[in-house]
Amino acid sequence: MKIGVLGLGIIGGVWAKHYDAAGVLAGAWNRSPKPGFPRWQSTPEAVADAADVIQIVVADPPAVEGVIKKILPRLRAGKIVVQSSTIDPTSSERFHQLVTATGARYLEAPFTGSKPAAESKKTVYFLGGDAALIADVEPLLSLVSEVRFTIGTHQQATALKLAMNLNISVVLEGLCESLTIVRRAGISDDTYFKVLAKNVSHSGVATLKEPKLRTGDYAPQFSVKHMHKDMRLAGTMVPAGEFPALETVRARLQLAEARGWADEDFSALLKLLPK
Ligand code: NAP
Repeated sequence: MKIGVLGLGIIGGVWAKHYDAAGVLAGAWNRSPKPGFPRWQSTPEAVADAADVIQIVVADPPAVEGVIKKILPRLRAGKIVVQSSTIDPTSSERFHQLVTATGARYLEAPFTGSKPAAESKKTVYFLGGDAALIADVEPLLSLVSEVRFTIGTHQQATALKLAMNLNISVVLEGLCESLTIVRRAGISDDTYFKVLAKNVSHSGVATLKEPKLRTGDYAPQFSVKHMHKDMRLAGTMVPAGEFPALETVRARLQLAEARGWADEDFSALLKLLPK
């Protein structure tokens, strides 16, 4: 089977190049044209025609909806849509219905592992769909991923993804506050991270973001605007006022976006805390 990628941002661009290197890329498209890209097609429809499996990795639910509506007339039995943008369960159900009404199949495939994981083919997928569909798509997804968890339904896969990002945001906010207290006490970053490495609170987030927090290099691996979007979507799943940590990190990300840091890495939350 051949795959087409719709959305060549931080992650889609990396995956599409891996697929191309493996000889399975049928087409690639991005809203802002990238004509030099391998297997470039000028419309999503052309990618849908060329590919058996169409993987969507764009910003948010409205972006996914726009892309799906364009390719709908080209979908039919035999085609598979793999939706990898981070979206919410309600949107997932709507897209599932739109796609399957054409006879095509729909797999929800959100993922974790930021740009470095994508580059090293170590993306981790959370797959929401039936076993036969997953078995059909796995040979392609295994070209860019290390681990693929089978979660359950398409809506459950999106719920798990948003829950994971809530965890990441809260851990990162705690890390920023803890590092800032230590800096204000005149303790070096070397000492802080050496001690943290032996502390029960040490996390994958700390490992991934330590270089950024130390140097203040906020080139995006995962942007403030997308983490803010994810916390907004997670907020639609719970009653207002019940999840205080979610509300806190959402407000911090909103503030970071208001400061003009939308496209910076979400570790830029550190900058909200004066040194
Ligand atoms: P990105 O670099 O910001 O890329 C976003 C992509 O979406 C671009 O190709 C952009 O096109 C496209 N897009 C935006 N609005 C669109 C619209 N209305 N119609 C069509 N295309 C549109 O984002 P990313 O980091 O690759 O993330 C992509 C998705 O994966 C997001 O849902 C994000 O939450 C999720 N995700 C990312 C990471 C990560 O670490 N980066 C990890 C897990 C999940 P243009 O180039 O024209 O703007």
